[in-house]
Amino acid sequence: MAIINAFYSKHPRAQRYHTSTKCGPGSEIPKKNKMQGRGGLKHCTECAKLNKESR
Ligand SMILES: [Zn+2]
Repeated sequence: MAIINAFYSKHPRAQRYHTSTKCGPGSEIPKKNKMQGRGGLKHCTECAKLNKESR
């Protein structure tokens, strides 16, 4: 399954944290901006959907 530890972008415009490697916006985060954790952000709706489908 593609459910992984939460990660987020430290980019100022980032508004969501991600939990799926299949997430488009999540996978577009450059490695240098990728941070572990939730960063106090909301859960990405795309990741929520992907995680639900992969169950
Ligand atoms: Zn996502």
